[in-house]
Amino acid sequence: MPVLIQSVEPGSHADRAGILAGDVLVAIDESEINDVLDYRFYVTSRKIALHLLRSGAPFSASLQKGEYEDIGLEFETYLMDKQHACKNKCVFCFVDQMPKGMRKSLYFKDDDSRMSFLFGNYITLTNLTDADIDRIIKMKISPVNISVHTTDPALRVKMMKNPAAADSLRFIERLCEAGIQVNSQLVLCPGLNDGPALERTLRDLGALYPNLQSIACVPVGLTRYRENLPALQPYDRERAARTIEIIHRFAEEMLEKHGERVAYPSDEFFLKAKRPLPPPKYYGRFDQLEDGVGVLALLESEFMDAMEQDDGSDARADLTVLTGTAAYPTLQALAGRAMSKKPELKIEVHAIVNRFFGESINVAGLITGQDIVAQMKGRRIGSQVLLPSVMLRRERDKFLDDMTVEQLEAALGAPVKPVDNDGWQLYDAMTGR
Ligand code: SF4
Repeated sequence: MPVLIQSVEPGSHADRAGILAGDVLVAIDESEINDVLDYRFYVTSRKIALHLLRSGAPFSASLQKGEYEDIGLEFETYLMDKQHACKNKCVFCFVDQMPKGMRKSLYFKDDDSRMSFLFGNYITLTNLTDADIDRIIKMKISPVNISVHTTDPALRVKMMKNPAAADSLRFIERLCEAGIQVNSQLVLCPGLNDGPALERTLRDLGALYPNLQSIACVPVGLTRYRENLPALQPYDRERAARTIEIIHRFAEEMLEKHGERVAYPSDEFFLKAKRPLPPPKYYGRFDQLEDGVGVLALLESEFMDAMEQDDGSDARADLTVLTGTAAYPTLQALAGRAMSKKPELKIEVHAIVNRFFGESINVAGLITGQDIVAQMKGRRIGSQVLLPSVMLRRERDKFLDDMTVEQLEAALGAPVKPVDNDGWQLYDAMTGR
């Protein structure tokens, strides 16, 4: 499928070869270009011939360049193709649990292997064919992040409401056998895929080690919008603790045999079980930060490193720090440490309860502007407000409910500074370094 070139970087190889915006890329050498994966793979060689169309007429351009050097073409979309939607109807799908009337893009259910390659998104494999898997292997796309949930074929079909969920499990084996690194994710639902089903899943995935390099175990998130959806229970303290035990038993065996745990409960599991979070060394390479595994341990360790390296200069600030209920105890403790090192600092940390989606949703990334405004009303606000940048969309301008940062600043009467999930940045933001 030919791809329209939107712009050509001035002075680039493509520009010097006479390629123009509006030309259409058909093939590189003998290979058709259908999407960003084809393009990135075939454009790497030192000598390439581009086959193009200009106003419908074919022409070619030969380029010599450094291996992997960019040639300066920009396309209409980063995928160079439409994004692939998911074909599942998972019983725990978060998109199905959102209220009506939110921004349209939030309702799009993507399940696109190209997004996994570009942004680390998780894919289920249920919309892929053997030819797609061949392409991933040929292009050595690695790692691939896969939502497995369970290795029991019938249970996977039941949970994902898609008959393809059973057969697609064999793609995990194919990828691992071909040397592709796989990070896997299990969204655990009490009574469904935890207990003995989880033991089986861990065993099956463990057999694919080392190319199956990590397993993130995440408790199901349930909002208050579940009308007409399958009945699911949230994790209570006891069940969360039992599930952590199953994961620990497997992880300790893997640690003894292979020197790494491979499977990890997410931070949320420890919080639900009211257990202390493990230290940073527990998490090895931190392969699953995007899934909330080890995030708080890493944040704390980076913060402490930053604090140790601080030369002790003055820091006079009066800050209000906002976060979700999950990260509140950690942030409260870190703010306390910063204040004891710099007594002239004043930092007040507030946990924002998620009334928008429901109180069991405790992560900062799902807090809305309206919850912040309602819960901070009448409270003292410092001269600056810090909040985690994950509360905002990628452009860092709007919350999930479309409230803008400017609107929040007007409501709170103070400037708002988004801070990335990075202990160094958090320390600098708290102390004004
Ligand atoms: S794969 Fe499942 S959880 Fe993910 S978007 Fe599709 S239905 Fe929702």
